Amino acid sequence: MRVSSLYVHIPFCASKCYYCDFNSYVSTSDVMDRYLDGLDREMELVAAAYDHEPLQTVFFGGGTPTMFDARQTERMMQMLHRHFPLREGVEISVEANPGTVDPDKLSVLKDHGANRLSFGVQSFENDLLVKLGRLHDRDAVYRSWELARQAGFNSINLDLMFGLPGQTLEALDRTLRALIDLGPEHVSSYSLKVEEGTPFYTWHNRGQLILPPEEEETQMYQMVIDGFRGAGYEMYEISNFAKPGHRSRHNQVYWRNEPYMAVGSGAHGYVGGLRYINQKNVPEYIETTVQGGRPVVEQEVIDERMQQEDTMILGLRLMEGVSFARFRDKHGVAMQDVFGDILLRFEKLGLLQVDAAGVRLTQQGIFLANEVYAAFLE
Ligand code: SF4
Repeated sequence: MRVSSLYVHIPFCASKCYYCDFNSYVSTSDVMDRYLDGLDREMELVAAAYDHEPLQTVFFGGGTPTMFDARQTERMMQMLHRHFPLREGVEISVEANPGTVDPDKLSVLKDHGANRLSFGVQSFENDLLVKLGRLHDRDAVYRSWELARQAGFNSINLDLMFGLPGQTLEALDRTLRALIDLGPEHVSSYSLKVEEGTPFYTWHNRGQLILPPEEEETQMYQMVIDGFRGAGYEMYEISNFAKPGHRSRHNQVYWRNEPYMAVGSGAHGYVGGLRYINQKNVPEYIETTVQGGRPVVEQEVIDERMQQEDTMILGLRLMEGVSFARFRDKHGVAMQDVFGDILLRFEKLGLLQVDAAGVRLTQQGIFLANEVYAAFLE
């Protein structure tokens, strides 16, 4: 399969949220300019390195791509168009944070073909936003939302988190209602994970971070599912909800285990059965790329067995699951011949539903998805 998707990592944020272990840094405008110099060179090399089709999906993620000012945003979009042909109808998504967009930036994005925005809202409760170390408040969400709509963005995702310190079911309910009232075309909703190396990790180990108990977190997930389904969203992935016609095409490339190129510091690409990882350190990334080198620090051949496992683990995130036909097309063998015993075991446990077309998580399986995924790893 020829690659037709591109991920672009922009590793800058206005400050560091307390729970965040993403590859993102607080930096100066001067460093951002130098980063764009490097990104330009890397895009040129990556476009030449792979036998790609005109792009069908592009995702600018971070970090916060909207940390760039309008001039830098224009450079970022121009380099995409200069180095890669784009298919008509290409999906170009840009991650943003409330409070980091203005009319100039948004119109630059729109004029250069961006057609999907994703805002890291996380909650509508100001006290919870403060606890997370987020810089925005509820009013900033509404202001940024208005600006995005005025700029003509009619496909907007809002990220939502639950299982937050001190969050009650009532607080989540208020956030769900506020979010549904706004009416985004897409919602991604994740429970908080305490990751090593973050302030939350330290506070959690010291007993200073009190999280909702596990049963309450499960209840919260059920509330999220019921809330969005009840409001007419399709739950098409275990954490993602979309109005008709607004599924994230780029993320479906990942979940279907299809190839994608990636550029930017710390970015991971997967092309031709090879996974590569870029230099994470921003100064080193800039130094390598401006001198005309690829910043790849790690490459891994994904052998056939690992590819089959990935197809199952990633594909089962989708509510449609993995079809037998797609598995055979992709891997040249029947899914039952490779994973027959696992399918049978989890079908008996009521966590997988297997029919003539393929396999998918049951409603019960959605809540125990990690146990199911683990079984596919050799
Ligand atoms: S805005 Fe996102 S990427 Fe940036 S620090 Fe916060 S969680 Fe991390």
